[in-house]
Parts: sequence; structure tokens; C-alpha cells
Amino acid sequence: MSSLLIRNGRLLDPARVVDRVADVLIEEGRIRQIGADLAAPAGATVVDAPGKVVAPGFIDIHVHLRVPGQEYKEDMRTGTAAAVRGGFIGVACMPNTRPVIDNAPLVSHLYHLAAREGLCKVWPTGAITKGSKGDELAEIGEMWEAGVCAITDDGRPVEQAETMRQAMIYARQFDLAVMDHCEDKSLSAGGCMHEGKVSSELGLKGIPGASEEAHVARNILLALETGARVHMQHLSSRRSVELVRWGKAMGARVTCEATPHHFTLTDQAVADMDYSTNTKMNPPLREEADRQAIIAGLQDGTVDMISTDHAPHHIDEKDVEYPLAAYGITGLETSVGITLDRLVRPGLISLEQMILMMSTRQAQLINQTPPALVEGAEADITVLDLERTWTVRADQMASKSKNSPFIGWTLTGAPHATVVGGKLRMLEMKVIAE
Ligand SMILES: [Zn+2]
Repeated sequence: MSSLLIRNGRLLDPARVVDRVADVLIEEGRIRQIGADLAAPAGATVVDAPGKVVAPGFIDIHVHLRVPGQEYKEDMRTGTAAAVRGGFIGVACMPNTRPVIDNAPLVSHLYHLAAREGLCKVWPTGAITKGSKGDELAEIGEMWEAGVCAITDDGRPVEQAETMRQAMIYARQFDLAVMDHCEDKSLSAGGCMHEGKVSSELGLKGIPGASEEAHVARNILLALETGARVHMQHLSSRRSVELVRWGKAMGARVTCEATPHHFTLTDQAVADMDYSTNTKMNPPLREEADRQAIIAGLQDGTVDMISTDHAPHHIDEKDVEYPLAAYGITGLETSVGITLDRLVRPGLISLEQMILMMSTRQAQLINQTPPALVEGAEADITVLDLERTWTVRADQMASKSKNSPFIGWTLTGAPHATVVGGKLRMLEMKVIAE
């Protein structure tokens, strides 16, 4: 493997209290040396990074790679290409595939496929229940042995509290995080957007915030009782944030994530974007007070991380009437830009907070060694360009699907380079496949 020299960047690794301008020399997949004026070995690739921020590699623990079974939406190559283009060195992929990832052989299959075709690291999650049907627990122990990084029935909630409790008791033995898509189906049934003033004006059936909140509250209580690690996925409502704040204060081992769309957009986008189905996702875009509460949660650490819920869909599944369209939007290629432009630039969060939320804490949640800017560490690095102004364009996306509400947005701040295990996989938002 050829060596790589990242020259003159501002190294910023808040978990290690690193903040200094230096060169980073990478050899054999590892950070060999950090220092001033390092010489580039013969044949080394040099990335000039003066004025750029060199950070521990970003991770997204909420990604739908659609593999196996729905390769018409995304495949291993395109999904991981979208990840590295977006600045991510690794993703945790969701198990709501065809078939559902609920057994050890499928987990192993995904690791093999990722090693063969992936451009970044891929950590499969496994289903909580067989087929994610909510009835019988999946073979959690066997999946753990096969390397599953967490369990979740994402796409659906675990409806029965007792099933969830058993899953937590089981997962705790392996210190696996139980991730949950929080939704009370009896409250959300038939809804296609947030229930509120806008949904009544538009005449669309709504999903009340309580649908999410009821399950957040339940999960916190179960986490308190079982001692398990429980992670609430894609929180959208202000009361959910408040509940997690309370749960943490009570000593529950709970964490949660927010998506760029939930801290950027509100249900008003459904009207403003003229019923664009790229505003349809589950949980839905909510009200301004919810958006503000999520930002406040990110600021005070109640919300632990920013994840995308990257959910690619074919145009045919989106180019239909609003109530009939598939839920979900892509996110890998816009997450870093949106976060820099909408949270860091206006001073709502610091760059250090962003790095903790997009790298360190994500690795910790899925039991991986957090990427670190220290000599000897595996070279998983994200370089940021804080000054680059760019426009999100569908034809430049590496994902197979283009269902993003951010197409056309102009953002300042972008991922500049992605180094995965010592390999330069992206430079200036262009994917380097080999
Ligand atoms: Zn979900």
C-alpha cells in the first residue's frame, strides 16, 4: 500500500485534546508519524491541507445500504461511494433488507461483500426480531459472534414492550446497543406527515409527535429496568428530546441521534416544496419548536450524534402522489455540508462538538475503536474544507438514488478528503474507487 502525506492541516481531535497544525504521514494503513515538515516518501500521495481541518474519520451509524435484495435502490459499491464522497470512513447498515438481516450467515455475507466491493468500512446491524416482524427474538447471540455492531428493527418499531424488554436483557450480555425506531403504530397509522396546522391545511393525514414520544418513554423505562444500552434513532420531536434528557438524568444508559433534515427543515417544507415527496420520511419533519429543541439537544449533549438515516429510493417509488410515496431520503452526501453550514457556521455548535457527534460517539455506540489522530492508530481520517461553497447537485451524487430535499441548496463547508484504513477514497468530493 502506498503512503500518504496530509500536509499542513489543522489537526482537531477533541477526544484526545489535539488541536494543532501538523503533517500526518500514513503508511501501511496506519498513522506513522505526526509532526512539522515531514518528508514525503518516494511515491507517496500528498494531500495539501493548509486551512483545512483534519479530523478523526466520520461514521454514520444509520444507513440503509439496501443490500441484500434491493440493489435497484442502492448497492454495496454505490452506497459506500456515497459514504466516502460525504466524508464518512464507515457506516452501520440497517437490517431491513430482503431478506431481513436476522441471522449470522447473512451478517458474514455482508462483511464479505463489503470487503470485496465496499469503499469504506461497513458494520452490519442485525434485526431484533425474526424478519423484523416483532414476534420472536432473532438469534442475537449468533449474530453477535458474526460481528453484528448493534441490533434494531429499524423501519419499524418493536411494538410489544415485553419483546423489547427481552431483547434488552439479551443484548446487555454482549454489551450490544439496542437501537429503536420509536413509533407507536396505533398513533401513526395512515399518516404521511407531521400532524399539525400544515397537515390540516394540506389535507394530509398526520402522525402526532406522541407516536414517537410514547416509545421513547417506554424505552427509557425499560433501559432503567434492564440496564441495557438503548439508542433512540432519528428523534424528531421536542418532547422526545426532553424525555431523553430526563432519562439520562435518571441514570438510564440511553443515547439518541438526530438527522440533518430534522434540524434543518420543518413540516412547512411539505407546502413550500409543493408536496415534494422528498419531504416525506418517517418520523416526519415536525414544527419549528421541535427543530429548535433538537438543536438545543445537540448543543447540550442530550442528542449524542448526527446520523443521516440515508434511505435511497427509486424514482418510481417517489414520483407518485404524496400519501403513496415511500418514506425516506438520502443523506450521506449532504450531512457534513448541512451540519457545517447550518450548525457550525452560525455558531450553534462548535467544530469540536461536530467531530465528537460524527466520529467518536458513533464509534463508541457500536463498540468500535474511535478513530483517533495519534501515531500508531489506524488511518481513518476525514478532512474538512470549511470555506468551500458548493451546490448540491443530483448529477454529482454517487448514490444510486437522488431522493434528497437538499438538491439545489448552496452550502458553505464540505468534506474535502476521506481516508479509509490508509487509503485515499475521496478528494475534493470526487470518489477514488482505486
Ligand atoms: Zn427508522
